[in-house]
Amino acid sequence: MTKPIEVRNPRTGKFDYVIIPPPPRLVVQQCKRTRRAQVRWQQLGLEGRIEALQQWKQAILSGRDRLIEALVNDTGRLSTSVLEIDSFLSSIDRWCRLAPDLLQESAKNTAIPFIALQQTSVPYPLVGVISPWNFPLLLSTIDTIPALLAGCAVIVKPSEITPRFVAPLMTALNTVPKLHDVLTFVEGAGATGSTLIENVDLVCFTGSVATGRKVAQAAAKQFIPAFLELGGKDPAIVLESANLELATSAILWGSVVNTGQSCLSIERIYVADSIFEKFYHQLVAKAHRLQLAYPTIESGDIGPIIAEKQAAIISDHLLDAVEKGAVIHSGGVIEDLGGGWWCRPTVLTQVNHSMKVMTEETFGPIMPVMPFSTVEEAVSLANDSIYGLSAAVFASETEALEIAHQIDAGAISINDAGLTAIMHEGEKNAFKFSGLGGSRMGAAALKRFMRKKAILIKTNDTNDPWWFGNGE
Ligand code: NAD
Repeated sequence: MTKPIEVRNPRTGKFDYVIIPPPPRLVVQQCKRTRRAQVRWQQLGLEGRIEALQQWKQAILSGRDRLIEALVNDTGRLSTSVLEIDSFLSSIDRWCRLAPDLLQESAKNTAIPFIALQQTSVPYPLVGVISPWNFPLLLSTIDTIPALLAGCAVIVKPSEITPRFVAPLMTALNTVPKLHDVLTFVEGAGATGSTLIENVDLVCFTGSVATGRKVAQAAAKQFIPAFLELGGKDPAIVLESANLELATSAILWGSVVNTGQSCLSIERIYVADSIFEKFYHQLVAKAHRLQLAYPTIESGDIGPIIAEKQAAIISDHLLDAVEKGAVIHSGGVIEDLGGGWWCRPTVLTQVNHSMKVMTEETFGPIMPVMPFSTVEEAVSLANDSIYGLSAAVFASETEALEIAHQIDAGAISINDAGLTAIMHEGEKNAFKFSGLGGSRMGAAALKRFMRKKAILIKTNDTNDPWWFGNGE
């Protein structure tokens, strides 16, 4: 018997839900069963797989209210949960629409006229998906849907901090037996994740750098590919030529949406010194206008901090910054309201790179603003990070593009923020410690789940020129 894990409700602070991780033996059995079922799933063909996913989508829609309720209890937020569900459902449609073209294969001519090549792709049989708590549903399914369409079976290990959304998904899954056999969720924490990695053929991991490193090592031991999507410390650069009104609104959204609990949150802001004062005054004024979604969940803009451990990190970063001379203009404290942890949008100035708030992932609604005097300095500050997930530049388009090419990160939004959260077409890699492996966005995302297989056919019935007996 494994030890039950008690789950905290982020709005009330009460531990009102329990998960019981399966013992490793059962995880191993589940992996074997799901891998066996994958053969039928692959034979079903793409049309059959699309049909099954669409049936699942319809069943989820019928139980949408229960899914919303579960996600709200997991994350303490309402409007973002509704958005998360809608994005997940539309991702099913998007992949079902794109997959037929992406999975099409054709015979190819080769350099040798009498050898034909059939280029095929074969799915990895069993994919393990390990996900974090900040967007529990979206990040459990972002890799799952393309993997299933590619013909893989999938076992998901969601975060132990936000596991409630799994039950309504499973209820819907039970109505689609073909899919139910090849898509499973296992509850548990790190130990369950470790067992999973030892028993799958490919792992997609979203989470922290520290855990990502363990996952990469475990995957290397098994000789399986690991796609890692890890932390970030996204910079925004604002030049004198920027539209200030637009820049402050975009940066505010990019920094504090989902209470800053996004890998691609803007976590540091570099502003040309000629507009620095004006910029941060405007940002502070806009930050003050945002309200906590408390006491009623239906109103307000800022939800609670989901993970208790994160509240401690945010607090530590703020304390460290203030001790080193930072000035707080809004927010700045973690408040205990009704048992939950809350933080209002916080603007800081007098910051520098000796502070954790400028170098380590904070994952909260914190906006440290620092002036720069030359574009070279701005680029150098933006690149002074172990992370390279994404970034934003606000300036005239020509200037912004020039800077975008110099920033060491996988995606750059120009005159906007966090665009990769909204549009998924652009292929991108996570640079530096922000990740490893192929793009999770664009067409490449689906192709990660296929292994290339070449079938080479001799088409004439004469000796090949390189065989014995043709020469010396
Ligand atoms: P985490 O690393 O603590 O946990 C992530 C998952 O890994 C959880 O399901 C956890 O149970 C599991 N896990 C823990 N130890 C494991 C082990 N040894 N082997 C296998 N699995 C193990 O991360 P978190 O606190 O849940 O999430 C926050 C982090 O996720 C932040 O750093 C954030 O930036 C990152 N994140 C990245 C992206 C991205 O796309 N790059 C998206 C969202 C979140």
